[in-house]
Amino acid sequence: MTTLAIIGGGIAGRSLIYALAKKKNSFSKVILFDSDQFAPTCSLRSTAVVAPRGITTGHSELGDLLSASFLKFKQHVEKEKPSGVHPIVQKTFATSKVDAFIKRYPQHSFKDGVYSSIENGFLIETKTYLNWLLEKSRDLSFEVKNGFVINIEHKDELVELKLNNGEVFQAHKVIMAGGSYNRFWRGLSPAKPLSSSAPVQGAYLEFSDVDYGPLSFSITFDGDNFVYHAHSHILLIGSSTQQVGHELPPVKDLSRIYERLRLNLNFELPPFEKAIKITGQREKASQRKPYIIHEGSLSWIGGFYKNGYSLGLELAERMVDEL
Ligand SMILES: Cc1cc2nc3c(=O)[nH]c(=O)nc-3n(C[C@H](O)[C@H](O)[C@H](O)COP(=O)(O)OP(=O)(O)OC[C@H]3O[C@@H](n4cnc5c(N)ncnc54)[C@H](O)[C@@H]3O)c2cc1C
Repeated sequence: MTTLAIIGGGIAGRSLIYALAKKKNSFSKVILFDSDQFAPTCSLRSTAVVAPRGITTGHSELGDLLSASFLKFKQHVEKEKPSGVHPIVQKTFATSKVDAFIKRYPQHSFKDGVYSSIENGFLIETKTYLNWLLEKSRDLSFEVKNGFVINIEHKDELVELKLNNGEVFQAHKVIMAGGSYNRFWRGLSPAKPLSSSAPVQGAYLEFSDVDYGPLSFSITFDGDNFVYHAHSHILLIGSSTQQVGHELPPVKDLSRIYERLRLNLNFELPPFEKAIKITGQREKASQRKPYIIHEGSLSWIGGFYKNGYSLGLELAERMVDEL
């Protein structure tokens, strides 16, 4: 019996399970360790929009990967019709950094001092889609273990994993898919991409009972995001926020983002005080590049940074091909 252990049940870990279920593999048992007791799941604290964002192929390795990932996700939605994924229009506006905007969106419009571009994309209800990935993986013999891995050690031909509740597991192969918490295991790997991986905070306000009509949409205005979920009447407002060294939502930053969008967009906003404030830690790896690393019986996948929901599937399939 060959056992694979995957640490982390965010979009990376669940996409791996989904990709393993789709492809013949040599593991007779797969265990997904998932517990956000010490490490809040970024995938559940994400505005989760998937759109091409003007990126085209032929300019950089990262651009090529992001383009391929968007295409893969689009095909996945068309073919598999996953729960929790909705088509949207992504509108991007810019009044600052316009040179970069024009370069990225050559087909832009310009009116009243504002540059704009419109694309088709997807909006994800995170919990629903993350659950769907596991539900659709029943062809694979896997088990989800609710426990936090606190130690990994080589024991002869096997790897031993210790959980915070004292349980011990053995596996032939271990994949770290712990998002920004992968950095705590980098001492086990001399590989470069992981060496400077760091958490970068993002945060947003979540308003309920909002009604801007029957269609979901996402607007990005000078980097600030306004995401409307028509099906659940939820509005998200957020952006990258200042590093504060802890995991509480940065209320001052969020209030500035809210104020900028209130002034720039033509929507009546619910009062700031009504919002739930949410923050997540994204993993930014060296040169913003996602990584797949293999070293003997240990492997790492991550560095999804701002594009976890499009990169998940593409990177998971690449990793499964390499196992
Ligand atoms: C505010 C915000 C907005 C965002 N907007 C978008 C967007 O619009 N589009 C987009 O595509 N992406 C977006 N992202 C980025 C995206 O959410 C992330 O890239 C993605 O969720 C990372 O997924 P992951 O699986 O690598 O990590 P995570 O989702 O963090 O999953 C890792 C899991 O591993 C678990 N774990 C870690 N260590 C251990 C351990 N030792 N034992 C057991 N479990 C462990 C954690 O608890 C967690 O559940 C956004 C992120 C934020 C914060």
